[in-house]
Amino acid sequence: MDNWSQLETIQPIATKMVLNMIKRDRISHAYLFHGQKGIGKNNIATLLAKSIFCIDQVDGEPCHTCKNCIRISSGNHPDVHKVIPEGSSIKKDQILHLQKEFTYTGLESNRKVYIIQDADKMTVNAANRLLKFLEEPSKKTTAILLTKNVNGIIHTIRSRCQVIALQPLNEKKMQVVLQDAGITQENARLFSALTNNVDDAKVFDQDEWFAQARNLVVQLVEMLQYKNEEVLLFIHKQWMPHFSNREQLQLGLDLLVLWYKDIMYLLVGREDNIIFKSYIDKIEKSAMYWSKGDTTHILYAMMEAKKRIEQNVHPTLLMEQLTLRMQR
Ligand SMILES: [Zn+2]
Repeated sequence: MDNWSQLETIQPIATKMVLNMIKRDRISHAYLFHGQKGIGKNNIATLLAKSIFCIDQVDGEPCHTCKNCIRISSGNHPDVHKVIPEGSSIKKDQILHLQKEFTYTGLESNRKVYIIQDADKMTVNAANRLLKFLEEPSKKTTAILLTKNVNGIIHTIRSRCQVIALQPLNEKKMQVVLQDAGITQENARLFSALTNNVDDAKVFDQDEWFAQARNLVVQLVEMLQYKNEEVLLFIHKQWMPHFSNREQLQLGLDLLVLWYKDIMYLLVGREDNIIFKSYIDKIEKSAMYWSKGDTTHILYAMMEAKKRIEQNVHPTLLMEQLTLRMQR
């Protein structure tokens, strides 16, 4: 998400609004961008700062190569200040420090930008301090407040900012964000089917437990296909110890659901939708073993099992019953 056109793919409305203001030279003196984690708040703040300072900006898009752009990318621009929580909160002293910095004129130009990350974490004193600061706006200063929790920002601050909501990501946009963060296409596809939280997805990508969970799903399916008599033993000895709490078991079942959906996609000729593409050989074998009717029946049984986890049915019992229903 290094430029506006990339950001526009996941945040079209916010991007258009901000770009329009840049192009018309109508940048507000304070913005408040809000939305859940990982959906582009920091990208938008950095891009806005670059667009303001870039020496070679074209149509709002910064060049990314001039000295100002480079210094903003590396967090070293003397007129762009960033405030992040110290520990669990942003303290009054941090805002005072910021204010002090701003009493000097800009080192390189008359412009200054400050970015307050997790602005809802400001203490009451810090928020009141910032409010005073916002009440005396200078044409040359742009405040960019970012938050996941817009209700945690006092009304008097909100009313002085241009408030822009960023949208939650759908599955496709989530994939773009994850691939942009260096996650492989296949994993990005899988994680976006499992969660809409970018952080959770990044954890899956690094997590040995998750990799093992995926292996166990593949093994369980193969057991059901070829070694029915050993399925219960597998559930007791391998499956349950790994998926040892309800949340983990839900994830295990989600992975199983995706596997059987893939079988269905193959059976109905919609291979494009398959998630476990690198396991296509195994999916093909599964599709030879199970009919459409079987697969529908199994998907239904799994959805029911997922509901029953929430109703506190004993997890081992639940898995025993589910695998019995899954056997052809
Ligand atoms: Zn530039």
